[in-house]
Amino acid sequence: MRTLTEALDAQKNAGLERQRLSLDSAQGRLITVNGQSLLSFCSNDYLGLAADERIVEAFQRASKHYGLGSGASHLICGHSRAHTELEEAFAEFTGQQRALLFGSGYLANLGVVTTLARTHKQAYHDRLNHASLLDGSRLAGQRLRRYPHRDHTTLGQWLEQQHRPGPSLIATDGVFSMDGDLAPLAELIQLAEKNGSHLYLDDAHAFGVIGKEGGGSCCHWSIDQASLPTIMATLGKAFGCYGAIVAGSHDVIESLIQFSRPYTYTTALPAAMASAAMEALSIMRKEQWRRDHLADLINHFYAGAETIGLPLPRKPAAAIPIIPIIIGDSEQTVALSEALQQQEILLTGIRPPTVPEGQSRLRLTFSALHRQDDIDRLLDAFKQIL
Ligand SMILES: *Cc1c(COP(=O)(O)O)cnc(C)c1O
Repeated sequence: MRTLTEALDAQKNAGLERQRLSLDSAQGRLITVNGQSLLSFCSNDYLGLAADERIVEAFQRASKHYGLGSGASHLICGHSRAHTELEEAFAEFTGQQRALLFGSGYLANLGVVTTLARTHKQAYHDRLNHASLLDGSRLAGQRLRRYPHRDHTTLGQWLEQQHRPGPSLIATDGVFSMDGDLAPLAELIQLAEKNGSHLYLDDAHAFGVIGKEGGGSCCHWSIDQASLPTIMATLGKAFGCYGAIVAGSHDVIESLIQFSRPYTYTTALPAAMASAAMEALSIMRKEQWRRDHLADLINHFYAGAETIGLPLPRKPAAAIPIIPIIIGDSEQTVALSEALQQQEILLTGIRPPTVPEGQSRLRLTFSALHRQDDIDRLLDAFKQIL
């Protein structure tokens, strides 16, 4: 067995060692790291709400009332009216019967998948699903199969050939976190209905970003939210906050409350965070200009990237502010990221195991706070480096 020291050396030698930055500023188009101001293209604060004054004020107001720590888990005495109000608002917005707050998207996925695994022993995952979905199946000891990315035809064949009895869980990201493409939701819903499976949609990167009022994947595809049994949105991305929320039928939510260990055995999200997220939800629904502006930035970038010959994937059918620039080699990806940083642009490389072997990339994200000349600066930097 390898020692930790040997494992760390191997990680370093493979060019996979990771390091943290230490920010001295809030999130925004410009961030400060070690006294250097950097134009940032790698946060998930898509709508630019993480440092929005109204949300910060909502947090301050609520923390004056509720304090900071929630003191206990939701089932003991950590649950407050602020939590309930956000859950009700989210259920109403998504057209689901009920909703439930979790400490984070990671915990929510562990909680939902392990709870559904009580009755759904077989799980089918898109090959590029977020790690937390897969970890849920692994933790639950579900039989796990990963279908080729977005390939509902293969999944359909697998479901038909399935010889073990009992309903299955189908889990998918709505918008894939590292590729920015969309799951074929209508086809997955059809398959799930035909087969009696439970479809779980992780809408972490879609909620707030696509669809009417930022309602996510269902709104984008004009699918009735009620035809999906369970949906998750994280509060850490477009909401600009922290935590996560799951919406579903009464029975799904009540089962999570009763059986989900990542719900039960952890301290409740601070009530003030729920109040801040409530404000974020209201801004997200009202301020369509943030999504329109993102669409303009994306179009501007694609047009410019074409003129300099930057290799990009096909533009997806929705304005998704995640654009992968696939480099392939890990060390080359890190070198490019460092060259950009010398030009005061922050775009960190993403390497295995976050993405498959040989698919290291620069994962470019936009925020509604970016301006068109920020995009021009990025394109200029690429032109010089490549
Ligand atoms: C970020 C992310 C999560 C985890 O959410 P957190 O709130 O950051 O823990 C889950 N699923 C997907 C697809 C994500 O991108």
